[in-house]
Amino acid sequence: MGTEEPGRSVGETNGPTLRAMQRRTPVWQAPTDVLDLMGEVSGNELNGWGEPTVRQPTLVMWANPRALAHGAVQQRMTEEFVAHPELRRVLRLDDHHEPGEIASTPVERSPEEWLSAVTTFATGDDGHRVELVGITEPRREWYFDGRESALPWIVVLGVAMDHEQLATAPEHTSALEVHRQYNRGTAAARALADWFRRQGFQAEGHGGPGAGPIQMVPAAIAAGLGELGKHGSIINRQLGSSFRLSVVLTDAPLLATEPDSFGVDDFCYGCRVCTDACPPDAIAPDKRLVRGIDKWAVDFDRCLPYFAVSYGCGICIAVCPWSAPGSAPRLAENMARKLARRRAGSG
Ligand code: SF4
Ligand code: SF4
Repeated sequence: MGTEEPGRSVGETNGPTLRAMQRRTPVWQAPTDVLDLMGEVSGNELNGWGEPTVRQPTLVMWANPRALAHGAVQQRMTEEFVAHPELRRVLRLDDHHEPGEIASTPVERSPEEWLSAVTTFATGDDGHRVELVGITEPRREWYFDGRESALPWIVVLGVAMDHEQLATAPEHTSALEVHRQYNRGTAAARALADWFRRQGFQAEGHGGPGAGPIQMVPAAIAAGLGELGKHGSIINRQLGSSFRLSVVLTDAPLLATEPDSFGVDDFCYGCRVCTDACPPDAIAPDKRLVRGIDKWAVDFDRCLPYFAVSYGCGICIAVCPWSAPGSAPRLAENMARKLARRRAGSG
C-alpha cells in the first residue's frame, strides 16, 4: 500500500473499467468476507480525495484497530501474521521503548556541525547503519489530526530492503524483509533519539509499521530522500523504492537538507509498470487532488482488500524499474540528460 492514499468506493470495483480492459491481466476481485470487513466508509474519502483545501490527514491504518474505520481489516492482517511461524517472529507485538535521560547541559554545535554529527551517528554501527539521512522542518499538514508535536525538526532515516526478497511479493518472504527493515528503521530512530537526549535535547523516535504522529513520506520528500512515485511511495536516486522510513522529532538546532528532484514525475507519466502489475487495479495513470494538493495517490479502497490477504503486498514497489539493484542511479542519469536536452532545445 502506498503511504495513506490507496478513490473509488469498494462498490465501484464491480464491472470492468476502460483501464481494466486495457490491462494484460484480469482485475483481482476481493472475496466477500474481506469486503464485509471493509464496511461502508470509504478510505479515500477519509484521506481527502477531491478536497480542495489543505488539512491534516486522518489516521486510516496502523493504530488501535478499535479506533479505525477499517480496523477490522487491519485486525485480520495481524491475525494472519501471528498465525505464520516466521512472520510472528518479526512482529513487534508488545513493543515498548523507554527513552533515555536528557542531559542537563546541552552540547553546543553549529547547525552544520549538527548535520555532520547526526549523519555520522545514524550511518554508523550505533545508528544501525542507515543508508539515508535527511532533515527538514515539520509542517502542520503532515501531522495526523490530534497527534501534533511542538518539536521543530524532523530527521528522516531510510533503511534499504533486500530487493531479491522484496521481489517475492506478495509471498510471505517479502513481508519478512519489509518487517525486518521496519524493525531496523525503528531501532535506528530510537537510537538516534537517545543520542540527541544524551546531547541535552528532547527527541522521540518513530518507525513503522505502526503510525507515529506524522506522515513520513512528505517529510522524507522535503528532506531530500526522493520524489513521490505513481505507486504512492517514495523513489530515491540510489535505492528506488526498495527502502523503509523512520523519523526522529527533536528540538536540537539542526540544518535542513535540500529536496532532491531527478525526473521521477516525468518518468512516471511515461511508465505504467506498477499500474499494470497491481492486482486490484488500485494505481491510476493520473494524479488527483488530495487535501488541496495534486499528487499521485493509490486507491485505498481497492488496495486494502488485496493488501490484507497478501501479507502487505508490496508488488508495486518491487516491480518499479527504479527499485532493481543498480537501476536508480542509471535512470536518474538518463533523466538528467533528457532534462538537459529539453532545456537546450528551449534555450
Ligand atoms: S500493488 Fe499491492 S500494495 Fe501496491 S497499490 Fe496494488 S494492491 Fe496496493
Ligand atoms: S513503476 Fe513506473 S509509474 Fe510506477 S512508480 Fe515506478 S516509475 Fe513510476
